[in-house]
Amino acid sequence: MLNYTIHPLADVQTDQIGEGTSIWQFSVVLKRAQIGANCNINALTLIENDVIIGDNVTVKSGVQIWDGLRIENNVFIGPNVSFTNDFTPRSKQRPAEFLKTTLKHHASIGANATIIGGITIGEYALIGAGSVVTKDIAPYALVYGNPAKQHGWVCECGTKLENLICPACQTQYQIKDNTLNRTEQNRTEQNRTEQNRTEQNRTEQNRTEQNRTAVNDDWFHANTLRGAA
Ligand SMILES: [Zn+2]
Repeated sequence: MLNYTIHPLADVQTDQIGEGTSIWQFSVVLKRAQIGANCNINALTLIENDVIIGDNVTVKSGVQIWDGLRIENNVFIGPNVSFTNDFTPRSKQRPAEFLKTTLKHHASIGANATIIGGITIGEYALIGAGSVVTKDIAPYALVYGNPAKQHGWVCECGTKLENLICPACQTQYQIKDNTLNRTEQNRTEQNRTEQNRTEQNRTEQNRTEQNRTAVNDDWFHANTLRGAA
């Protein structure tokens, strides 16, 4: 049996829930919703049927996730964020299909923001509290206001970049074809660090094995002597 937690005061009708996920009080999750592993679905949320949520997603209280929403891994949705899925809502009149909205991995949405349906919010983008987002948002973009506009870029750690460098973690970025990326230098350094780490591990492993052999030799020696005595 999968290991997830549903509070007894929640009404959860789907069983497509990943390991380690928690769903808290007074939440309602409809039958065909899919929720990944290690998610935290806070109290007082509503999740409809045509919804796919990835792993490590946080949904704070007071959020309704309507049909048509796709939420990738590591997304953060702040309290009382509003989504919409219909440009021409009328009572008792259902559209043939609801608008599709995608939140790419690691995107974060501040409290009380409104996300108009049919758009994509790029990976690592940060949406300020109270924003009204009406258009696609580029990866790593920092946007806020009504209508929301871009006011710079954010690092993967969440800090606003200054001259394409993160003042908090020093990661460097570049803009190519209007898209922000981490620089090659970063990548090379990361690879070098990983290589070093692997070599270090190997050396340490060898040392540990040597020690182990030495200890075994000692033990063998001591026991042989004891046996001989
Ligand atoms: Zn950073």
